[in-house]
This record gives sequence, structure tokens and C-alpha cells, in this order.
Amino acid sequence: QTRIKRIASSIRVIPDFPKPGVMFQDITTLLLDPKAFRDTVELFVERYRDMRISVVAGVEARGFIFGPPIALSIGAKFVPLRKPKKLPGEVISEEYSLEYGTDTMEMHVGAVQFNDRVLVIDDLIATGGTLCAAIKLIERAGAEVIECACVIELPELKGRERLGDRPLFVLVKG
Ligand code: IMP
Repeated sequence: QTRIKRIASSIRVIPDFPKPGVMFQDITTLLLDPKAFRDTVELFVERYRDMRISVVAGVEARGFIFGPPIALSIGAKFVPLRKPKKLPGEVISEEYSLEYGTDTMEMHVGAVQFNDRVLVIDDLIATGGTLCAAIKLIERAGAEVIECACVIELPELKGRERLGDRPLFVLVKG
């Protein structure tokens, strides 16, 4: 697939960021290639336009880059899943573990309804902990996670296995 190749080659890998030993997949260089950025959004839109997705939920921060253009194109709502203390209204929170310590993800109460069909989007899945927290928030609101989508998967970390039976769709493997 020529579109996938262009997307893959537009992603920059920065060694030892944010700490020694990590190969950081940097999607800001994908954003500098308008054709690759457009192809990324289009591949997701082609997949989701006929799946009756009613909400695209984007994980802060890079899910806020890819989620909104997809939501607009498929006629779905966009819901931000945010770091703690950013959302002004009433929230539900989900704590999740990182390599060192924990983090929290929050969603506005009422943003997702029990009958919503939700697509969760982020730039990258590593261990899957972040997407798991997102899934829990949405399912606590009574809605269904139809699929999770990322631009990049790091398959060695087996994050996909943590998502249970929710499907994961990715464009590029790192
Ligand atoms: P996980 O929870 O271990 O799956 O990590 C995924 C989260 O960490 C996502 O929100 C990513 O944006 C971020 N992340 C982890 N590694 C990278 C990377 O190499 N590039 C960009 N984001 C990363």
C-alpha cells in the first residue's frame, strides 16, 4: 500500500527520548507532510464511515490531532479524554499504571451516552494501559467501544492483548 508506506516513512524515530533506551515514535513529522497526514485521516475515515460510529473519543494529547478530522468526516461527535483537572465540568476518572507510577484519565459526565457507538483514537499503542483506561471510562458510561484505532502499534509490548475482545486497528507497526 503506497499510502501506508508514505505514512510509515514520515514518522521520525528519536532514540533515547524521553529517556535512555526508548525509541520514540514522533508523529510531528507526519503532520509536516500534508499528503501523509491527509492519507492517515482518510484511511481511518474509509474504515469507519459505514460503522455507525456516533462518538470519536480522542486520548490527550495526540488523539486530539487525529480524532477531530475523523469525527467531522464521518459525522460523529468528538469527546476529549483528558489528563486530570483539565475538564471544567463533572467528570468520571480512571487511574491507570505507567512504567513508573500512575496517571489518571478523565471524561465529562454526559459526553458519552449509554447508546453511543464509540471509536477510541490515539497516536500509538505501547503496553495498552492508556487505551484500557479509555475503554473503562466509556464502558462505565454504559456505551460500547466498537474499536480502538492508532496510527502506530509497538507489537512487541503486546498491548493488543490487554484490550480483550475490543478490536484494534492500526496503520503502521513500529
Ligand atoms: P501505553 O499506555 O503503554 O500503550 O502507551 C501509549 C501512550 O503513550 C499513548 O498515549 C502514546 O501517545 C504514548 N507513547 C508511548 N510511547 C510513545 C512513542 O514512542 N511515541 C509517541 N507516543 C508514545
